[in-house]
Amino acid sequence: MTAFRLNFLSLFWVPLAWLPAALSEPASGAAPWRTLTYVQSAFGVTNYAWDGDSVCFSNSHNLVRFYQGRRKSDVNGTTVWLNALPGGSVSTGNWRLSGIDLDFLQLAVLPQEEGALKPVRVILDPGHGGEDNGASSKDPQVREKDLTLSMALQIGKKLQAAGLSVAYTRTNDTTLALDDRSRLAREAGADVFVSVHANYAGNADAAGVETYVLPPNGYPGTADGSRPRGWQIGNRNDFHNTLLGFSVHKKLAVVNQAGDRGLKRQSFFVLRETSCPAVLLEFGFLSNRTETRKMLDPGWQDKCALAISDGILSYAKKVDALDKAVAEKRKHEAEANERWRLHLAAPAAKPPAAPPALTLSSSNAAPATVTVLVPPVSNQFCVTASRAAPLTGTNAAPPELNTLIDFYATGKVE
Ligand SMILES: [Zn+2]
Repeated sequence: MTAFRLNFLSLFWVPLAWLPAALSEPASGAAPWRTLTYVQSAFGVTNYAWDGDSVCFSNSHNLVRFYQGRRKSDVNGTTVWLNALPGGSVSTGNWRLSGIDLDFLQLAVLPQEEGALKPVRVILDPGHGGEDNGASSKDPQVREKDLTLSMALQIGKKLQAAGLSVAYTRTNDTTLALDDRSRLAREAGADVFVSVHANYAGNADAAGVETYVLPPNGYPGTADGSRPRGWQIGNRNDFHNTLLGFSVHKKLAVVNQAGDRGLKRQSFFVLRETSCPAVLLEFGFLSNRTETRKMLDPGWQDKCALAISDGILSYAKKVDALDKAVAEKRKHEAEANERWRLHLAAPAAKPPAAPPALTLSSSNAAPATVTVLVPPVSNQFCVTASRAAPLTGTNAAPPELNTLIDFYATGKVE
């Protein structure tokens, strides 16, 4: 594990100034682009499949599909929204993926091996409360603040039964400001913050689950019209946020497979101001009568609480490996920066050897294959994608999204 990381890290973390200008930097952030050949090598696959709409990289353990002109991607059957729209196109030979998305995939999303359970302290944050009802449904009658409290208490019981220490931002119907929630997480010494919400949209047909983590510095959220923000406290934990968000969303999406709306990114207050890894999940729509009935069903609540607690446990079993991987990444970045600094300080000296080109040659150490210990997902990966609900159409914001943003903008969430 360590050896391969050294190899692929040494290939990945090269100073931007060495990269060809045309490929150096996406407009929206600081990470370089990665070419199709590079991504292919990073995934450890010998080929890719292009069907005119999506490009798919697969081996016996992983299947990752990126769509032309869309930020949604498919990672082993789970929907993950990218931070940057892939550039270029496969057909013209200049397709590229942002370096930051490839980094998140490599370090936080694709590794599947679980180690020992780290005794992380979890703080559960039932959304809204007291004077703030959150969203509500009239038929059947339910208030978001009651549903989120009930769900958080159920999730907490399961986590405690599994041996984790659990705290809550509230355990009764009390009013809490958003900054109270981040403060309580800090005072509790929490390692993991999970904010529980139910969704609401203008379109009564909107359904399904979505999970949010903070966008990285300089990248917009996934909602239509979202603008990038600068660095936030929560950006200290970009890789851990991604691992936590993916771990929880993957399990939630299994409970509600037809309604996998994806691991998304938005700069909600509790995500940007909480100092430990944080996730905000929306486990169903109170604006959808059928889904609301389902959310009131104790059996479904139990399944959902189990999925969320399983996701948190999975995070706690992977976080040690992620800590190591991130530390190695930082070390290699620092070394590369130091080499570059020395080079700039001695302009007369011969420039350092060029870093490995974006186009890999056989002599370069290829980025290693992501280590996985799971059964193959399919034998005909890219030819017959095995999603229960294939992604079709576009990633244009669904009609309900503007209403959804309005709801957040009222201060209920963000
Ligand atoms: Zn809410």
